[in-house]
Amino acid sequence: MADIESVLREQRVFDPPAEAAGRARVGSMEEYERLRRRAQEDRDGFWAEIASELHWHEPFERVLEWNAPDAKWFVGGKTNIAYNCIDRHLSGARRDKPAIEWVGEPGDRRTLTYAELYAEVAKFSNALESLGIERGDRVAIYMPMVPEAAIAMLACARIGATHSVVFGGFSAEALADRIRDAGAKAVITADGGFRAGKVVPLKQNVDQAVAKAPVDHVVVLRRCENDIAWTAGRDSWWHELTGGASADHEAPALDSEHPLYILYTSGTTGKPKGILHTTGGYMVGTYYTTKLVFDMQDDDVYWCTADVGWVTGHSYVVYGPLANGATTLMYEGAPTYPEPDRLWKIVEDYKVSIFYTAPTAIRALHRAGDEWPKRRDLSSLRLLGTVGEPINPEAWMWYRETIGGGRCPIVDTWWQTETGAIMISPLPGATPTKPGSCTKPLPGIQADVVDRQGNSVGTDEGGYLVVREPWPSMLRTVYGDHERFEKTYFSEIPGFYFAGDSARRDADGYFWVMGRVDDVINISGHRLSTMEVESALVSHDKVVEAAVVGRPDEIKGQAIVGFVTPKKGLEPDEELARELMQHVVVQIGALARPAEIRFAEALPKTRSGKIMRRLLKDVAAGADSKGDTTTLEDGSVLDRLAAERGYEE
Ligand code: ATP
Ligand code: MG
Repeated sequence: MADIESVLREQRVFDPPAEAAGRARVGSMEEYERLRRRAQEDRDGFWAEIASELHWHEPFERVLEWNAPDAKWFVGGKTNIAYNCIDRHLSGARRDKPAIEWVGEPGDRRTLTYAELYAEVAKFSNALESLGIERGDRVAIYMPMVPEAAIAMLACARIGATHSVVFGGFSAEALADRIRDAGAKAVITADGGFRAGKVVPLKQNVDQAVAKAPVDHVVVLRRCENDIAWTAGRDSWWHELTGGASADHEAPALDSEHPLYILYTSGTTGKPKGILHTTGGYMVGTYYTTKLVFDMQDDDVYWCTADVGWVTGHSYVVYGPLANGATTLMYEGAPTYPEPDRLWKIVEDYKVSIFYTAPTAIRALHRAGDEWPKRRDLSSLRLLGTVGEPINPEAWMWYRETIGGGRCPIVDTWWQTETGAIMISPLPGATPTKPGSCTKPLPGIQADVVDRQGNSVGTDEGGYLVVREPWPSMLRTVYGDHERFEKTYFSEIPGFYFAGDSARRDADGYFWVMGRVDDVINISGHRLSTMEVESALVSHDKVVEAAVVGRPDEIKGQAIVGFVTPKKGLEPDEELARELMQHVVVQIGALARPAEIRFAEALPKTRSGKIMRRLLKDVAAGADSKGDTTTLEDGSVLDRLAAERGYEE
């Protein structure tokens, strides 16, 4: 493996392999620049052209109506996203192509061709309608990662019911909050799902949730055959509802701005927001980005490991790939069950060509040891992707070399629940990549790094990540709280969409996301990114994961506290703490020297696997945590951290 320190020191750039460039839709930076300029000079024409590749029941009259912060895209157009994801592919060779390849945790498998997916979605659409679910109603989906999760989403979208998918790992309490906030009329769930060899009691959680936030209907898929309670009149079995239903359903024409779904953000920075996406723009955005960023081809086997409970699962497990007529793989269970090569075995079994996952998974699989991927044939892979957090160069290099065999480009994709689709990312056949950078905005996306007044900042100066122009898949509101929408996203920096992240742009115009705006540390007036210090810590060979926060300091304003998970089997001590402090000094400079190192078996993460630095800040300052912890994965991690001793400078 390439020596990470020299990669960083020499700021190595990895050109796209000639093979990727040769077959890609966008095969050079000249072509990228041409597209980018075209989109800038004629924004509406650019998006209209992409939209015209999809099916519209009635054509749109106008591409965009923009009364900041309110956007309407493809105005007057009528379409149906489920039609575009399924029916559109039924007339040609894709009819019998696998749409969904599915692997259950216990080892069961299913393949659904486009024709079969059509029949399942039609039946469930008819079933929902038979329950009295109508256009505009909200439906909560609380499912394991089984094909029926996608089928339920597509059926809701098809009939015009707005879905709200709630991650199956959330508690009854969190589910109740989301049912209430969205005013859901029904919940679609399963008796259970398999996770790390255990049954997750989904129906039981639903029963508790709807006791507090009542719904008219609960539809239950039989998955685990576990015992469940039953409320007659309210509960119905999926198989009974669909058993007699017709396998045909005509997709109605829905307005382009029809509410498609509500999805709550991960809760990394505070109370989750119910992000609302609408039909036409979201469809165009996910279609376009899947096609470009993954350079999706008809022979690809594509696997995004995200759960459908997150936006990545919405846009890049379900809607984007299916809109492109791709084969999308779904896996139900834990990535390391029964052994840490589970994902690599699936890649081998299905000859996966595109693999898209999160830095947290990459770090965990790295930590498990190289022997696991080495046991499997990963030669089918041609492209790797990452999303969710900034990726440390160390993890990036491991991903590239050990998983990608040094031959697969990595697309580090920056985007958010709010943006609906990828915004900043390399194009695999064109963009030279640098470990840790999401490189450049996609053609059509006017991202920038600015100061508080909205002026672009200079090269390598930190600033706020914003988007200057509307884009089709942008959120339309925070459900039920338009004021919060305006305040959070369109008031901080006048005139622009404010992402809440800080970033810098280097001399090549590459974006480096530094973390959340609130996470930037200010030491004696110098702005340091938590990401940079974390990457330095993780580049030490005894460290697997690190989170860095600032704690109040009388002299310097803030002092750095590093929370570090050491490699398995290591007994951390004062000496290691000093070694790490010195390592950061060598990597970045004396300014970045942590004042304190705390060792931890695990760091507090959201259920989507992101480090919650806001909670660590309280621990570092010795305060009780006051923040929202409803999306925290494991509450005991915080208590253990607070009890650990720290090693001070
Ligand atoms: P909340 O908004 O509730 O705090 P969240 O921001 O974690 O939760 P998501 O919408 O799932 O919810 O995550 C989007 C955020 O994830 C981005 O704002 C950014 O901070 C981070 N992120 C996503 N992809 C990348 C990436 N490739 N590089 C750096 N950061 C990323
Ligand atoms: Mg966010």
